[in-house]
Amino acid sequence: MSRYRGSVCRLCRRENLKLYLKGDRCYSDKCAFDRRGYPPGQHGQRRGGKISDYGRQLREKQKVKRSYCLSEKQFKLTFGRADRKKGITGANLLFLLEQRLDNVVYRLGFSNSRSQARQLVRHCHFLVNGKKVNIPSYQIKVGDVVEVREKSRNIQIITDAMEAVVRRSMPAWLELEKENMKGVVRAVPVREDITMPVSENQIVELYSR
Ligand code: SF4
Repeated sequence: MSRYRGSVCRLCRRENLKLYLKGDRCYSDKCAFDRRGYPPGQHGQRRGGKISDYGRQLREKQKVKRSYCLSEKQFKLTFGRADRKKGITGANLLFLLEQRLDNVVYRLGFSNSRSQARQLVRHCHFLVNGKKVNIPSYQIKVGDVVEVREKSRNIQIITDAMEAVVRRSMPAWLELEKENMKGVVRAVPVREDITMPVSENQIVELYSR
């Protein structure tokens, strides 16, 4: 599976949006997007002008895909699942992404970024309803309890992330018991919980071509 290995700050600059891919740095004055808020590359500052429908749809898809740190294949699979579900495909897609275990770990503040959350999940540092789960795409359901494993509670990147989480707001569908390093899923996310400016209909149109 191909994975992007270049500078992640370039991705924010390309999408013209802070995607918060680098943890602490994103909140500091070192943020590359704050310093150079134009597309990367030699002609970045000269770009502009008219953008085609396809271009617009592609940018919306890339924005979401990059924000959740997924490969094209993973994103397309998730879209397929959203399409087969009842309801509005675009909203289903966002909900499926939000309910991934790596995203829930990030939202609860056990990691500084989604890519860090994915690595921590892969390394088996979390329990879901008391059982070890190391699958980042695992879909969390209402009532599930996600907690840091006993032996992982002193890992510095987890404790540091928990101190720093105050900068991000906790979505209403999750509840954190900080002292127990545990989070409970209180509800399914609703569209208003996803604050990233995205037009999910454009993504549906892109994949309907
Ligand atoms: Fe994006 Fe964070 Fe880099 Fe800023 S520091 S450009 S928000 S990844």
